[in-house]
Amino acid sequence: MKQQYNGPKRIAVLGSTGSIGTQTLDIISRHSDRYAATVLAAGTRVDDLIAQALRHRPAIAIIGDETLLPRLREALAPLGIATAAGADALAEATTRDDVDMVVTATVGYSGLLPTIAAIRAGKDIALANKETMVVAGALITGMLAESSTRIFPVDSEHSAIYQCLQGEDRDAVSRLIITASGGPFRTWERERIAAARAADALNHPNWSMGAKITIDSATMLNKAFEIIEARWLFDIAPERIEAIVHPQSIIHSMVEFRDGALKAQMGVPDMELPIAYALGETTRLADVSAPCDLLAAHSLTFEQPDVHKFPCLGLAHYALDRAGNTACVINAANEVAVAAFLRDTIGFNDIYRTITTSLERVEFIADPSLDDLVATNALARTRAAEFINTLSHSR
Ligand code: MG
Repeated sequence: MKQQYNGPKRIAVLGSTGSIGTQTLDIISRHSDRYAATVLAAGTRVDDLIAQALRHRPAIAIIGDETLLPRLREALAPLGIATAAGADALAEATTRDDVDMVVTATVGYSGLLPTIAAIRAGKDIALANKETMVVAGALITGMLAESSTRIFPVDSEHSAIYQCLQGEDRDAVSRLIITASGGPFRTWERERIAAARAADALNHPNWSMGAKITIDSATMLNKAFEIIEARWLFDIAPERIEAIVHPQSIIHSMVEFRDGALKAQMGVPDMELPIAYALGETTRLADVSAPCDLLAAHSLTFEQPDVHKFPCLGLAHYALDRAGNTACVINAANEVAVAAFLRDTIGFNDIYRTITTSLERVEFIADPSLDDLVATNALARTRAAEFINTLSHSR
């Protein structure tokens, strides 16, 4: 029988040393009467993980890279903090009895299996890893229907939509309008974009984020992924989801209703607000984010996104129309291409070329199982790496 537990909500933070992870832990520190981190998990930054564990005293700390486990164990064993390494340990940790909510803040495809483990265990999820919904939206939606898990979106756009939907009849929604900053290359000419290097793309105008998502913002594939994520999170037809460029990033997204009303959630660009809203299951905490000074913002502007300049944006509706394992291929090829771009091995436009070439070279599966998606992910990575090899030899 389940024991009665009345203490702070126990949180597993997957990806604790990344941008969302550290901000989540900041909120947990400031609201220790409400929250406690019982699981901390990082990929490779073992020293950061040790420092976090010393401060938060979780039940267990997990490192993705197994070669770093001895170091983690040596630092934390004297404190009675359990340690583990690897993908299986990560998935297992989400199902622990001392976890009430899982924050999925890992980067990329690696978020998929722990998210599925959490759903199977009926744990609530604060979803920050959008790739999970991109890769396996249909599968996850099916699993959620048979689980007690509730999903609270952390991505700022989806949090905004979620906030706008509170108290509303879902049938009254006519459109979701996802705002995009336009990224660092919004005003650049095409020729200049073609020659852009990693350092240019990492210079995001509004948001401070990890390297991978910052490159995805520059190609606008991040926005394509957010359209796909919204389709599954809010169970809405793809043709009712649009992206609009709003360079000030004050409106985080909007919902249009059938009577013509348009609701927007506004605020300064600060991820702590959507994180805190998700941790609190829509409870609004004090002192989360600075108030939004509209006079300082001065004006809010909107533009049509340029899909010719940013063809990755067009992949959203392509992936949703073609469905099956399409988005899984796009995500895998993109992860390989972004890593190559960050190493300066390929050019900026080669990211899109790597994705479209991989789509041609990976067999389409109409109704993929989890095993099919795991295989698709592996094959798409191989095909992407092969294509990048031909590119870097010709450079
Ligand atoms: Mg976002």
